Amino acid sequence: MPATENVHAHEIHKFGSQAERWWDPEGEFKTLHDINPLRLEFIERYAQLNGKRVVDVGCGGGILTEGLAKHGADAMGIDLSEELIDVADLHGLETGIHAHYQKISAEQLALEQPESFDHVTCMEMLEHVPDPGSIISACAKMVKPGGMVFFSTLNRKPKAYLLSIVAAEYLLKMLPKGTHDYKTFIKPSELCQSARASGLELQGMVGIEYNPFSKKFSLGKDIDVNYIAAFKRTE
Ligand code: SAH
Repeated sequence: MPATENVHAHEIHKFGSQAERWWDPEGEFKTLHDINPLRLEFIERYAQLNGKRVVDVGCGGGILTEGLAKHGADAMGIDLSEELIDVADLHGLETGIHAHYQKISAEQLALEQPESFDHVTCMEMLEHVPDPGSIISACAKMVKPGGMVFFSTLNRKPKAYLLSIVAAEYLLKMLPKGTHDYKTFIKPSELCQSARASGLELQGMVGIEYNPFSKKFSLGKDIDVNYIAAFKRTE
C-alpha cells in the first residue's frame, strides 16, 4: 500500500483481522447490525433506492451494502481490506443478495467513475482515515449532480469519549477495545464545512442514540455522540 494513500494500514489490519466475525449479529460488530435498519430508514427519508446505482464507501463486510441491495439498489461496496471484501462477497453468495464489491480507494473510484452514482453512503469510516476531507471530496465527485451523499461518524465531544469509548469499549464491551481514537472524531461543523467545500449541501442530520436500559438504538436529536447526515450534490 503506497505511503501516500489516504489510509492507515493499522486500521485496515484491525478491521480485517476480525473479518470472519463480521456477520455474527451478537459478535464484535453487533452495533453495526443493530443500527443498520435506522441507517436505511434515514437514507430513505432523502433518497429513493429502488433501481438506483449506489456505492457504499468503506463497506466492511457489507452490512449496509446488502441492506441497500435489499431495498432495490444496484449496490456496490468498496473497502481497502481484502479480507472484508472476501467476506462481503461470500456473504452475498450465501444470502443470494446481489451486490458488487471491489477493493479500491474512494479517491481512485472517483477518478475512474466520476458522477456515476445516484447516491453514495459512507458510514462509520471517516474517523478511521488520515484525511477525512479527501474521502468527503471523493464521495462528492462520484455522485451525480443532484444525488445524495450520506455520512455517519462520531462527534469530537467529551460525551462521545465517555459513551463511545469508555462505556461502549470498556464498561459495556459493545465494541472491541481500541476500535476508536477520540482525536479522530469529527465535529458536525467540520463535516459540513468539508462537505460544503466539495459542493455538498446539508439536507438533514440526526443522532444515533443508545438507551443503555432498553439496549436499543434510535434516531433522535442528540448529535453529541454518533450522528448521520444527508447531503445533496449541487446540480
Ligand atoms: N461502513 C461499514 C463498516 C464500518 S467499519 C458499516 O458501517 O457497516 C470501517 C471500515 O472502513 C472498515 O471496513 C475498514 O476496512 C474501512 N476503511 C478504513 N480506512 C479505509 C480507507 N482508507 N478506504 C476504504 N475503506 C477504509
